[in-house]
Order: sequence, then C-alpha cells, then structure tokens
Amino acid sequence: MTRSTYVVAVGSNRRGRHGAPADEVAAAINALPGLVSVAPIITSAPVGPSIRRFANTVAIVSTPLSPADLLLALKAIERQFGRRRGQRWGARVIDLDIILWSAGKVDHPALKVPHPAFRARDFVLVPLVRLAPKWRDPVTGLTILQLHARLTRRRSVPRRVVAGAGP
Ligand code: AMP
Repeated sequence: MTRSTYVVAVGSNRRGRHGAPADEVAAAINALPGLVSVAPIITSAPVGPSIRRFANTVAIVSTPLSPADLLLALKAIERQFGRRRGQRWGARVIDLDIILWSAGKVDHPALKVPHPAFRARDFVLVPLVRLAPKWRDPVTGLTILQLHARLTRRRSVPRRVVAGAGP
C-alpha cells in the first residue's frame, strides 16, 4: 500500500453547529483522514466582498488515497459541515483544499495540485511555514520558507510609487 503525504488547507468564515469558525476548523481537522500534524489556527481578514473573518490552518495528512479520492473525501466533509454550494465568496462553514502532494503535481480541470493560488495566500503560507518549511513546491522549485519570504517581501513593497520621489 503506497501512502502519500498531502498538505490540506482548512478554512471557515461562518458559524456552524460546532460554534465559531475556529471551532469549525478544529472539528474539520478531526474529520480528516490520516491526520499527521496541524498548525495553529489563525484568523485573517476576509477575501472578497465578505464582512466575516476567516479562521484558517493547514494540516499534513498521510493516506493511501489518490489525489482524486482525497478530493472526494474532502468534499464529503464539506457537505457534512453544511457548506452552501455556488456561493464563491459567500459565508461557508468549511472550505478544504489540497495544497501539496508528496508525489508531485496533478493537472486536471477538476483538480490542480499544487493549488494554483496557494503561493499568494498568507493564510496558507503563514501556518504552513510552521509545519513544513522545507517542503519544495514542484512548480517554482522554491521551499515553503522561500515562498513565505517572497510573499512577505511583496506585501511590504509600497503599492504606489510617486514619480520623481526617489532619492
Ligand atoms: P472552491 O469552491 O473555490 O473551493 O472550489 C472547489 C472546486 O475547485 C472543487 O470542486 C474542485 O474540483 C476544484 N479544485 C481544483 N483544484 C483543487 C484543489 N487543489 N483542492 C480543492 N479543490 C480543487
């Protein structure tokens, strides 16, 4: 039996039957197959036109499931937690994404691993840098530590540069 290791991102921005978003994230972590380790839960500002705050973390799981079968298992957990379909930026109880897979890449219309957006998401990279700083992204060749440093640098660059205002 070949086991794979995955990074799974867990997020919530809506109260559910377990309580506040952070309680929902903690409960979803317990529902993951083959849980190995989990980073501390962080809260972050909303993405898109939502007024709610998010709770996020990342977990490492080890499982014989293929990426496609893990995605099915994650969707079943999302349904169990009462996520509403078709509300891209809407309040959701639980959102689960496959971020990385130890065996490399998946490029399918319904599943892309590494997750195409994870390098720009501090709510993924901040917890992940605590959990797997040396994991190498197979697309860019950069480690999580390097991706996190790159994102932090970009964030600190002023958004507007006034012409002629340099030294
Ligand atoms: P969203 O509702 O924005 O989280 O998108 C969920 C859909 O994105 C799923 O139904 C998947 O088919 C697709 N998807 C593509 N890549 C991934 C991934 N790495 N992890 C989770 N879902 C993915």
